[in-house]
This record gives sequence, C-alpha cells and structure tokens, in this order.
Amino acid sequence: MSAEIGLVGLGVMGANLALNIAEHGFPIAVYNRTVETTAKFHAHAGALASRIVPCKSLNEFAAAIRRPRPIIIMVTAGDAVDQQIAALRPLLSPDDIFIDAGNANFRDTMRRSSEFNGSGLAFMGMGVSGGEEGARHGPSIMAGGLQTSYARVEKVLTAIAAKYQDDACCAWLGENGAGHFVKTIHNGIEYADMQMIAEIYGILRNGLGLGAAEIGDTFARWNKGRLNSYLIEVTAAVLAAKDSKTGSPAVDVILDRAGQKGTGRWSVIEAQNLGVPAMAIEAAVAARNLSALKSEREEADKIYALPSERLTPADRGAFIHQLEFALYAGKLSAYAQGFAVMEAASREFSWNLPMATIARIWRAGCIIRSQFLDAIASAFPASGRLSNLLVAPEFVGKMKESVPSLRRIVADAANGGLPVPALSASLAYFESYRLGRGTANLIQAQRDYFGAHGFERIGEKGAHHGPWNASA
Ligand code: NAP
Repeated sequence: MSAEIGLVGLGVMGANLALNIAEHGFPIAVYNRTVETTAKFHAHAGALASRIVPCKSLNEFAAAIRRPRPIIIMVTAGDAVDQQIAALRPLLSPDDIFIDAGNANFRDTMRRSSEFNGSGLAFMGMGVSGGEEGARHGPSIMAGGLQTSYARVEKVLTAIAAKYQDDACCAWLGENGAGHFVKTIHNGIEYADMQMIAEIYGILRNGLGLGAAEIGDTFARWNKGRLNSYLIEVTAAVLAAKDSKTGSPAVDVILDRAGQKGTGRWSVIEAQNLGVPAMAIEAAVAARNLSALKSEREEADKIYALPSERLTPADRGAFIHQLEFALYAGKLSAYAQGFAVMEAASREFSWNLPMATIARIWRAGCIIRSQFLDAIASAFPASGRLSNLLVAPEFVGKMKESVPSLRRIVADAANGGLPVPALSASLAYFESYRLGRGTANLIQAQRDYFGAHGFERIGEKGAHHGPWNASA
C-alpha cells in the first residue's frame, strides 16, 4: 500500500492526527523515534490499522509514501524538529514537503523555510489547534508555506479539519511563517479570553460569594446567548464537576497557579516587536506570571487582607446581567487587538493574511471557537481593509450597548479590591482607541523639554521645539 501522506511523532497530537487521517480514508505511513510506540499505536488502531503503515526506520518510512511526499512532523517544538528534519532530509527527493505541525515559533518557521529555498524540497509551517480532541475529530488548521505545497495536501487537510456547518476550518494563509504566526496570535487571544472569564469568575466568587455550582449555572446560561463559545461551555462544565476524593467542586481543590509558555509569550513579544498594542493579551500573560507567585501572594494577602464578600450590588440579578455584557465587550476589544497584531504582521512580512478567512477557520475545531467568530468573519469587508474591528459597523452598536457594563464592572471590581487585569486592559484599549484627542501631546512636550526631541504642531509640518529651553 502506498501512503498518501506520512507522519512523524506519535505523541498525543501526532497519534490522534494520524487516526483522523486514516479515518478519512487516506493511507498514512507513521514513524516515531521510540519504535515501540509505533508498534503499540498500530496495535491499538482497531479497524483503522489497515490504512496505517507502521515504519520501524526512516528508510522504510520514506519508501512507503507516494511522491511528492508530504510529511507531517508532529514532535516537540524546537530542536526536535530540526533533528527530525536533518535525519529525514537525505532520504527525500525534489518536491517532497516537510510540514511542521507543532507549535513552532514562527521565526523558526521563517528560518527553516529560507533554509529550504532552492533545495528542491518544500517546507510548510502549519498551526493546528483543538488539542487532543481536535486532532482526533477535527482541528482548526492554519497552513503556511508555498501555495503549491498546500495544493498537494489540501484534500487531506480539508477532510480531517473541523467543519463549521459545511465549511472546513482549514486554509492556506500565506507563505513561510504565516500559519504559525496566526496560530501564535490565536493562542494569545485564547489567553486573554480565558483570563477575562477567570476574572468574571473571581468577581462572582470573591465579590458576590457565590459557590462553584451557582457560577457554573450562570456560565451555562450565558452559553445560550451572545457569549456562546467553547470556552464558556468548558467553564460551565468544569465549575459543575465534583472532586471524586472530597466531593467538593473540582475547581475548589485546584491550586491557583498557572504557567505561560511558548505561544502566549510569543504573541506578546511579537505585538511589541510590531509596535501594536495588545494590552489584554499582555495582561493575560502577566496575570499567569503573577499567579505563579503563589507563596508571595499568600504573604501579601496576610498584610492586605480584605473581607471575602466585597461587592454588595443593590440588584444582584442586574449586576450579573452586566457581567455578561462586560465580558462580551472585553472579549471584542481583545479580539480586535489580536486581529490588529495580525494585520501589522501581514504588512511587515508581506503575507497578505486573509482576515475573514482566519476568523472563519476559527469558528470550529480550535479552543476559541464560537459563533462570535462568524460575526467577526462578516465584519471584514470583501475588499479593502478594516482598520480595526472596533469600528466595524457590525460591532459598533454592540460595543455601544455593552461598554457601559464593562466600565461599571471594572470600576466596581476596582472599588472592591478585585483584580481584573485583562478586563481593565480591554477597557483601556477601547477608551484609548476611541479617543480622538489623547494625552501624548504632553509626553511629546516632556520629551522635548528634557531631550530636545522636537514635536509636531497641529496642522503644521516639520519638527518644532517648545519655549521651555529659552526660558530655562
Ligand atoms: P508529546 O505527546 O509530548 O509527544 C512528543 C513527540 O515528539 C513524541 O512522539 C516524541 O517521540 C517526539 N520527539 C520528542 N523529541 C524528539 C526528538 N528529538 N526527535 C524525534 N522525535 C522527538 O507532544 P504533543 O502534545 O503531541 O505535541 C506535539 C506538538 O504539537 C508540539 O509542538 C506541541 O506544542 C503541539 N501542540 C500540542 C497540543 C496539545 O494539546 N497537546 C495542541 C496543539 C499543538 P518519543 O516517543 O520518541 O519520545
């Protein structure tokens, strides 16, 4: 049997992706560094085993795939990818395609792509989102590389990708690092979305003193409305779950310490490199870093202890309703920031990223999947560019309706001593973005005063200096 495609790396993601490919009728050759894993994987593949070619060596693997050979590399991001490429490269022929499907830093993908230039072999960087479940039953696939390479694998990828109604959540987004960059920003947005949900949970738990089950019911209700999304669904489910050891709500026995790695951090670094404000994403990454300071926080808590129920709204029902609107406004602002980062990167790296398509392939399969992304897809015009999602006609009314709740909730949380870093960053972004006359005139004056940096005058071209040095 000649395999349609090959896959290296039968870890959590690779194994599930290989089963997904086989299930869709494509014969696949598989290889794993630890050979026993390959045999075990094949033995447990059930009815799909007949479409899987388990290979003990890279020679056997290369020989098993139809040319030009597309080879998915799904190993730990970083050096492992380079090592695996180096081992396979001498066994391949012109037009064969390496597809790095791990969570690579897009700068590594840019480097690897240029290393392949003129070699006859092709290199694709492909973002895959949706975790283990997505890999097995339909991920969101963000492909980058040459369009001709994508054409060779398009049939397989669109077949295995998640479907939103009948649309496959898979697309070619641009050359070299485009796919991995978009995946990075996807994850940055995911950080912001999760952090804002956690902040709302904090208001309900610490501010109103509600228990996990009651908060879970609130999220489950919200999941039927404007906030309908996988992350809200997950939140409702985890809040409802009970710990088998103690019978307490599962979330109550989990340590409040989260890490940040790879894509979350990269999304912030790249936003800064591009000079694009991504305040909600930055706040979300910083919040995880702060969460890691558990023992320091416990010490500080003893010094600054506050009563456990800090908010006493006159109408609890109305207040909870405002939380829903606040989260919606915060989310829209955060997504606007993420899309603005991609817009700037698209110009910087000449990718011509298709924004509406990106929103469309995030509607299903990935962690931030939601109907909301369908509205975002429609907000991008068929031609021309949208400067920012916040000014898209589809969202202006929704922002006007929900921003007052975000202001009220951020203010109440601040008064109650409850941290809402991402919600307040989302609000700050919105308020700064919508302010025609900001305060940077004062910054420019200060800079000119102490450093003679000069400033632009309103309505006059050229660099100007203020009167301060003359009078000093
Ligand atoms: P995993 O379960 O830890 O598996 C790692 C795989 O990489 C194993 O097959 C391992 O082979 C192989 N490997 C490690 N070092 C290697 C080396 N030096 N040379 C050759 N093979 C090597 O990892 P995973 O969760 O499947 O993740 C794979 C990639 O997908 C990562 O880039 C990850 O960030 C990304 N990703 C993961 C998720 C997720 O939810 N897990 C979601 C999206 C993307 P051995 O069996 O020989 O150790």
